[in-house]
Amino acid sequence: MAEYRETPDATYDGFAEKKIVRQSLSDEQGYICAYCMGRIETDTCTIEHYIPQKHHQDSPYSEEEHKQQSLLYSNMCAVCDNKAEHCDKKRGNIPLEILNPHNPSCEELITYSLDGSILPAGREKEKVQKDIDTLGLDCNKLKKLRYGAWSDDIWKRFKQEYEEKDWSKELFLKYAEKYRNKKKTKKGLRFHVYCNFIAWYFDYYANNYKKR
Ligand SMILES: [Zn+2]
Repeated sequence: MAEYRETPDATYDGFAEKKIVRQSLSDEQGYICAYCMGRIETDTCTIEHYIPQKHHQDSPYSEEEHKQQSLLYSNMCAVCDNKAEHCDKKRGNIPLEILNPHNPSCEELITYSLDGSILPAGREKEKVQKDIDTLGLDCNKLKKLRYGAWSDDIWKRFKQEYEEKDWSKELFLKYAEKYRNKKKTKKGLRFHVYCNFIAWYFDYYANNYKKR
């Protein structure tokens, strides 16, 4: 890609090796969407430009900067396919204020509630909320998917594996940590879908669960 960038009049549309980039990005991301954490696969994911390819009237960058960024790997991430309900398809070219999946501390800017809603956290809640809205991360579809991933899958299996008498703060924390990491699967190292929400739930139970 670096080589191609140096060719005169290089444009993202003219860049032929998008499949290699999709493979590399989805692998780095553990096969989850950079915005919603839903499952992505190399063949069906899309390459998203954090600083969009096209200039938007509210953008702090010049047309030229947008053009340069369109060929930078560090400006790209892999995102899910959907019907413009959320993520890049909902966002279009609208600039994001603060939520940047390339920034590792980005996760500290969001929190959740028990029903799968996503909420801003930290000191800049207004900016975070604006980005959540821009990306549609709190839409009903994603809320249901997040909650379902927890209640119909992870929590169900947890309850099959451990009796309530064995539940402890340590066990919940261990599971929270487990879902913050990629897991070995037949298809390589992957994050669980909506892994941060699942980790949040185990953390929440570690601090709040009252045995009956
Ligand atoms: Zn997504």
